[in-house]
Amino acid sequence: LKCIRDVDPDIALAIENEISRQQNNLELIASENAVSAPVMEAMGSPLTNKYAEGYPGKRYYGGCGHVDTAETIAIERAKDLFGASYANVQPHSGSQANMAALFGLLEPGDTVMGMDLAHGGHLTHGSAANFSGKLFNFVHYGVEKETGMIDLDRVESMARECKPKLIVVGASAYPRTLDFEAYAGIAQRTGASLMVDMAHIAGLVAGGVHPNPVPHADVVTSTTHKTLRGPRGGLILSGKDLTGVMNKQIFPGIQGGPLMHVIAAKAIAFKEAASDEFKVYQAQIVKNAAALADELMASGFDLVSGGTDNHLMLLDLTRMNITGKEAEEALDRAGITANKNVVPFDTRSPFVTSGVRIGTPVLTTRGMKEAEMKLVAGFMTEALKNRDNQSTIEKIRNEVKALCDAFPLFTS
Ligand code: PLP
Repeated sequence: LKCIRDVDPDIALAIENEISRQQNNLELIASENAVSAPVMEAMGSPLTNKYAEGYPGKRYYGGCGHVDTAETIAIERAKDLFGASYANVQPHSGSQANMAALFGLLEPGDTVMGMDLAHGGHLTHGSAANFSGKLFNFVHYGVEKETGMIDLDRVESMARECKPKLIVVGASAYPRTLDFEAYAGIAQRTGASLMVDMAHIAGLVAGGVHPNPVPHADVVTSTTHKTLRGPRGGLILSGKDLTGVMNKQIFPGIQGGPLMHVIAAKAIAFKEAASDEFKVYQAQIVKNAAALADELMASGFDLVSGGTDNHLMLLDLTRMNITGKEAEEALDRAGITANKNVVPFDTRSPFVTSGVRIGTPVLTTRGMKEAEMKLVAGFMTEALKNRDNQSTIEKIRNEVKALCDAFPLFTS
């Protein structure tokens, strides 16, 4: 950080402190990951200087030859990775990918089905506070109270009743496998289109440890920065050629100049994700989540749906007499970062909640395996049980630091 330190010591300090927080804490936030050095380098490259409104070969600015090369490589790699015929790598975020997809498939006021935010869905799947809920008539499905899982028969009967133009599948806090083929059947039988938002599970899909939605959905959206381990950004894919329908929704529809440094970083991340090593890594993310879930349940925690099939799990703390907010704070003092999260049918507000969402992508990126998950579950259990005992919290904090030292995050 030499340049930054010389020019702006305040920002240098904030960055240094954040680097040290990431190194010295156990990051359990399910939507986060830690990128490779090449991905990081691309994001800090002079490609950030370039304006390139338009698409490769059809730009509104001169001098785009080299960024055209980078974007074309990113598009081709994204298509190869997910078996798609169409890819748009320009969305600045997952939310913008979703906005473009909804605008491409719907007219304002159309009826859409999506997963309830309170049951694990995302803001852009029709929350009243979000553009999606304001512009479209979203009808929400959720999980069953007894099982914590989505009942596909119920989704189908809702679809028969409300006749949506589109069904949106995907979630931010659903720990179970999504059967895209079954959703496609529902969409087909009820005359709806199907959009899958695979933001959370894109890495698992690329690594072959979760079914791929591309063969089944009309459009697939994603982020690139969660399990996929790329730069912060979005992605749109399809098994059909959506160039004419979808490209204009991103530019000029909702974005101006693409972030060429981020697109170059996406290309690198897609290359990494096509490797055999990445398959092993994604399988380990899932094995780690299963091991962590088993340990936590053995220690008396309730997990929504009774476990996990993917990279994340949702702890239901209702029986433990502790709120999600209190748990997040206690874990934080012990050096464990997680986020409070509503559980399905929660009686507490989203600022308090009865749950905590955790996931294993970052710990797996650090090289941790099942044995370390046992330790992490132990730290969490002890920290929550002894949250008012400062010396115990301090002892756990030291053990957490030792584990972090043994699995450094920034190796180069
Ligand atoms: N879709 C899902 C399922 C998500 O979980 C998220 C982010 O958490 C998004 C979309 C939005 O991504 P972004 O934060 O990049 O806008």
